[in-house]
Amino acid sequence: MFSISRSTALRQARTSLRQSQATTVPHVSSLARLLSSLAVLEQRDGKLNTSSLSAVTAAQRLGGSVTGFLAGSSVKAVAEEAAKVKGLEKIIYVENGAYDKGLPENFAPLLVENIKKGGFTHILAGNSAFGKNVMPRAAAILDTQQISDITGIESEDTFTRPIYAGNAILTVQSTDDIKIITLRQTSFAPAETEGGSAEISEGVDPKAESPTEWLSEDLAKSDRPELATATRVVSGGRGLKSKEEFDRLMPPLADALGAAIGASRAAVDSGFADNSLQVGQTGKNVAPQLYLCAGISGAIQHLAGMKDSKVIAAINKDADAPIFQVADVGLVGDLFDKVPELTEKLKA
Ligand SMILES: Cc1cc2nc3c(=O)[nH]c(=O)nc-3n(C[C@H](O)[C@H](O)[C@H](O)COP(=O)(O)OP(=O)(O)OC[C@H]3O[C@@H](n4cnc5c(N)ncnc54)[C@H](O)[C@@H]3O)c2cc1C
Repeated sequence: MFSISRSTALRQARTSLRQSQATTVPHVSSLARLLSSLAVLEQRDGKLNTSSLSAVTAAQRLGGSVTGFLAGSSVKAVAEEAAKVKGLEKIIYVENGAYDKGLPENFAPLLVENIKKGGFTHILAGNSAFGKNVMPRAAAILDTQQISDITGIESEDTFTRPIYAGNAILTVQSTDDIKIITLRQTSFAPAETEGGSAEISEGVDPKAESPTEWLSEDLAKSDRPELATATRVVSGGRGLKSKEEFDRLMPPLADALGAAIGASRAAVDSGFADNSLQVGQTGKNVAPQLYLCAGISGAIQHLAGMKDSKVIAAINKDADAPIFQVADVGLVGDLFDKVPELTEKLKA
């Protein structure tokens, strides 16, 4: 059933709470029993994308029941894996190879049918390429406004999100009955993959025709940790001068630290590094324990993707480079001397 009634009840409860407690903002938990969240989980080739479990953590912070959603071929096994995720009460899965690549043209109608059937009040997905692709389309079908890239939850209808490349934080309140949300994965640690025992059930499959077709993909393969979730990241910029120098200096440093490799847009545009390694406003958001960068000036659009890192260390020959304004540890020097020196010291 399309549970507008639950959303209406939620809004009425919120209003009456506000009226009865003129000076107190209702606490999230006081409304929790009326909330019912759907966390959209990503899978690739029958493997659960654990960074998408940040959606479960965000849903738990809202309170209320949390259901996980999965679709693709042979997804039943992934559903069984997801059932062990802590905090999930239920898993809904739809087994159909048409959803393997997350094409928004058929995935969004699929999601919407399952939202309607389950009467969910909050739908959450990571602000990943998948989430950014599918969720606005689902929101449009439901005629609601998406709330993008949230970094905090104030209450069931109020969220914080960065704007202007992370230079201002906006607090937004949504009056929509169904809240379609994408979240910044670095702001919500993925839920634990053990300890849960969710009930598994099959969802509805509207089998919408997709006017687009998936042809092929070319994935950058690496044995290194995944950039978005790595605890350490070493990043190189235009200061590295060439792809040869980037490949000569950055991988040994990354290996010495067990780190993922990132890059600035200037480095990517100059062909030093693959596009998938770009950190920043138009690349990936990272918030590792350590972000160590060399030859990066610290342009606002780069900082947008890394300034929430726990410790930022920078090597740059220009003492006035803006990166030093956010760096906890800075070394003014020539990276062609300093990076090999540091790599040797770390290996020793
Ligand atoms: C809409 C928009 C979106 C953008 N999105 C992104 C994004 O997602 N990510 C991103 O990174 N950028 C992004 N940019 C680009 C951004 O504005 C900068 O141009 C870019 O970040 C600069 O990269 P860089 O720091 O490597 O290069 P530069 O700014 O050229 O800096 C190179 C640095 O290397 C230092 N250096 C040079 N030689 C040495 C040496 N031998 N030893 C030590 N230091 C040395 C220099 O002192 C300098 O500080 C975006 C721009 C726009 C307009």
